[in-house]
Amino acid sequence: MGFSGFRVLKEGLTGNRGWTPQWRDPAPKDEYDIVIIGGGGHGLSAAYYLAREHGLTNVAVLEKGYLGGGNIGRNTTIVRANYFLEGNSQFYSYSMKLWEGLEQELNYNVMHSQRGQVSLFHSDGQRDVFVRRGNMMRSQGDDAVLLDRDGVRKLLPYLDYDNTRFPIYGALYHPRGGTARHDAVAWGYARGADQRGVDLIQNCEVTGIDVANGAVTGVQTTRGAIRAKKVGIVVAGRTSQVAAMAGLRLPIESHILQAFVTEGLKPCIDHVISYGMGHFYISQSDKGGLVFGGDLDMYASYAQRGNLPMVEHVMEAGMTLMPMIGKAKVLRNWGGIMDMTPDGSPIIDKTGIDGLYLDCGWCYGGFKAVPASGFSFAHLIATDRPFEAATGFRLDRFRDGYGLMDEEGTGAQHNLH
Ligand SMILES: Cc1cc2nc3c(=O)[nH]c(=O)nc-3n(C[C@H](O)[C@H](O)[C@H](O)COP(=O)(O)OP(=O)(O)OC[C@H]3O[C@@H](n4cnc5c(N)ncnc54)[C@H](O)[C@@H]3O)c2cc1C
Repeated sequence: MGFSGFRVLKEGLTGNRGWTPQWRDPAPKDEYDIVIIGGGGHGLSAAYYLAREHGLTNVAVLEKGYLGGGNIGRNTTIVRANYFLEGNSQFYSYSMKLWEGLEQELNYNVMHSQRGQVSLFHSDGQRDVFVRRGNMMRSQGDDAVLLDRDGVRKLLPYLDYDNTRFPIYGALYHPRGGTARHDAVAWGYARGADQRGVDLIQNCEVTGIDVANGAVTGVQTTRGAIRAKKVGIVVAGRTSQVAAMAGLRLPIESHILQAFVTEGLKPCIDHVISYGMGHFYISQSDKGGLVFGGDLDMYASYAQRGNLPMVEHVMEAGMTLMPMIGKAKVLRNWGGIMDMTPDGSPIIDKTGIDGLYLDCGWCYGGFKAVPASGFSFAHLIATDRPFEAATGFRLDRFRDGYGLMDEEGTGAQHNLH
């Protein structure tokens, strides 16, 4: 079933009776060429590109819950390509290019909105850092504009410019940055993969990974054993647990990240804004809710909910930056489990076990990576070679220390990224 304006109109006028399910609900087969563990954004996009780019369709995605129920449906939807370090910069730039053609590619409205991202700075030192980052972005072919205080005021008149403790000096403006509807991204990739013959199997938890003579042979699941020549682990916050099923011990810690949404308001925030003096960033959803969040809760956990100290910190930071937000009522808050690496950058690589591949370590920035991650992971699984834009995401950098991509410059410690 294709989507078009004409189709929406026709269905609207005929009681919406012509829509069909967006993907099948197949029973798992005994054997596949490739099994992807995890039906989040990255797993679904990998399955899509395996079929689309490499013609590999004897593929199953095994999801323990429902498609899109993990972090892909819990994030704050920010899409940007403003990374500084070699390796990250190229990768996220590639991802942005895929984002820009994604709705046409998938024939799916993922509500990608390039409304512009504004990263504020509040000191001369911070300005220098952002200038360097902006130069890197531009030399990569992406867009970055340095705004002074008046430039920011013109764009965001509602911020508190009288705050003398944390005065706004300016901002790095990234016009192509913005947001997309998170679960629609999962659904769009799911539908595209299903249309090409991939089996999407929900309520199917992987409970074991079978390895014989140094090679993967399949998986054990709550719906029976499934043989496979190749297996990809793409389970975000559950990476350490699933990898342990194959005897792997990874440099990943799982941490909670919270997010918040207010009641629906009339349009008032046109951009994505990141505060430079506290953990706070914000945008407004198309439904009108102000969507905002901060940093990790700073303790390792598998609970998909956080605690009050970070709630208090985020609210305080929001009030400092834009006191008007105090009038809005918070509707909901929630948490997701982040797969944190020591350098804050991801892993897309083979493991020491033949046929077993890893796509993880997205920390709290993996939504924007969904297109390029899936593309790169599919390339790796299909060809056994890393995709050009993802060559830096090696697992062994944590063993030998070479090639760490410490984007935040805080050293190799999970808790600070
Ligand atoms: C509050 C919050 C805000 C965020 N904001 C942003 C943002 O603004 N921008 C950005 O770029 N990133 C953001 N992120 C990060 C981003 O959401 C994640 O990095 C990304 O979604 C992780 O990849 P995924 O979509 O594949 O994960 P998930 O959707 O979590 O997919 C993993 C899937 O694996 C499944 N699974 C786990 N174990 C098993 C098993 N044993 N068997 C079968 N299936 C299994 C899970 O059920 C899950 O569905 C945010 C995250 C959170 C929580």
